[in-house]
Amino acid sequence: MTLNISVIGTGYLGATHAACMAELGFDVIGVDVDPEKIDSLSRGELPFHEPGLPELIRKHVDSGKLRFITDPDYSTVGAWADVHFIAVGTPQQPGGTGADLTYVDAATVGLAEGITKDSLIVGKSTVPVGTARRLARLVEETSRDDVAVSLAWNPEFLREGFAVKDTLTPDRLVVGTATDADEAVLREVYAEALERETPWISTDFETAELVKVAANAFLATKISFINAFSEVTETVGGNITTLADAIGFDTRIGRKFLNAGVGFGGGCLPKDIRALQTRVSELGLDHTMTFLDEMDKINLRRRERVVTLAENILGELAGKRIAVLGVTFKPLSDDVRDSPGLDVANRLYTAGAEVSVYDPEGNANAAKRFPRLGYVDSLTEAAQDADLVVLATEWNEFKALTPADLDELVAQKQFIDARNVLPAADWEKAGWSFAQLGRYYDG
Ligand code: NAD
Repeated sequence: MTLNISVIGTGYLGATHAACMAELGFDVIGVDVDPEKIDSLSRGELPFHEPGLPELIRKHVDSGKLRFITDPDYSTVGAWADVHFIAVGTPQQPGGTGADLTYVDAATVGLAEGITKDSLIVGKSTVPVGTARRLARLVEETSRDDVAVSLAWNPEFLREGFAVKDTLTPDRLVVGTATDADEAVLREVYAEALERETPWISTDFETAELVKVAANAFLATKISFINAFSEVTETVGGNITTLADAIGFDTRIGRKFLNAGVGFGGGCLPKDIRALQTRVSELGLDHTMTFLDEMDKINLRRRERVVTLAENILGELAGKRIAVLGVTFKPLSDDVRDSPGLDVANRLYTAGAEVSVYDPEGNANAAKRFPRLGYVDSLTEAAQDADLVVLATEWNEFKALTPADLDELVAQKQFIDARNVLPAADWEKAGWSFAQLGRYYDG
């Protein structure tokens, strides 16, 4: 008998996980508290941008393997599913730096109360170490006496933009379980990946929780590390990309995540490194992760650097027209949570510039966050009469830009490539004043 699977929370992580579980052959119900999200998913429509996911959702909504419901007391999935994945948000606490566990707690306890058959609750959300053990106790206290409900933790490593591929063919699977029986259930869920010999890391709750935040802390550190060197090359000269290439050839270091630019953002890295620091402080280990505070500061300084460059180029920003290309936190996503590009656009606006924003997928979400910026539907509209063009997110459309595409549109040939993806020499040859992060700039 195949397992019935529920996924609680159908945002970026949950909608992907639900569709991929259906693709693996399971019957799946996705649950969310947001009725609009459920309505659109039930129609086979994805309320956000993720390549390949709409097709997968439509396929399995049509086949009947995938359904989406609001289930306020979790009684429907509680009576039906054998495995429940928790995929609700764990954002930064409002006004704080720790993780807000309100949603994870509410979903887990609500679910435990609604469950009426033996089942396994599997946390996928990113949580501070210690959460799973605490929730396991709560599940035991709140679930009915006549059913066996246990908890496991199975952190998620998917990347937005590659979410379907990362879920169906992960680099590794990490499961924190309390018993061999719970691990066996998860082996059944992930049987297909195990057949392909995907590394399977079976461990305790604490290690499983820490693997996720350690991976994110390491990635954030790599980005900020190269960006710290950017501050040096911007001062003394030198080529930050050549430097990254050269150290990246060392297989102990590796080239990935060493791209100097405007830094990291999104719904994960920034809040996860802050939550990690907060958690270790709570544990009395205040000094253990202070380097992450430095990484966060280096990262935020890159955004300020773009504004400083704009001021160097334009002088007074008031009344100047600036095109910002790309405001999602990375390409292939419409996610603008803690986006460096959007932050830069807003800072330029705050400094008095007239900002014209174009993003292939992110305009709508950006407009909800900062309605006061000007949003346009094409690159050419954004660049029209611009005194300065800022490339802030490296969508392919922008990486393919040549000076000839913009020469006739702009008011002044001035460019900041905040992702270091364009060939500076070509632009300079075409008469552009061209600045990049990590590169000495004297106008
Ligand atoms: P999200 O905000 O897109 O989605 C969370 C969803 O949970 C929302 O739709 C919300 O309405 C729903 N929800 C909240 N409370 C609920 C409840 N009690 N019952 C049912 N649904 C509820 O967030 P996300 O980006 O999908 O992230 C979810 C978790 O996954 C976070 O912990 C995040 O750190 C982690 N994660 C995200 C990614 C990513 O790339 N987005 C990758 C790995 C891990």
